[in-house]
Amino acid sequence: MSRVTNCNIEDCRHNQDKTCQAEGIEVAARDQNKAGSMENTCCQTYKPKRL
Ligand code: SF4
Repeated sequence: MSRVTNCNIEDCRHNQDKTCQAEGIEVAARDQNKAGSMENTCCQTYKPKRL
């Protein structure tokens, strides 16, 4: 299984010291099933940290 070793989304509940602690992530295109560019990809496993 591949592992996310660097993620800058520090307000995600799974992020610890810029490393993803989730067992796996799901990534989807922003609009359709073909992203076409990096900017159009989104992590669907993101969860905001509790304040
Ligand atoms: S779940 Fe997604 S946004 Fe959250 S730390 Fe992992 S890769 Fe980053």
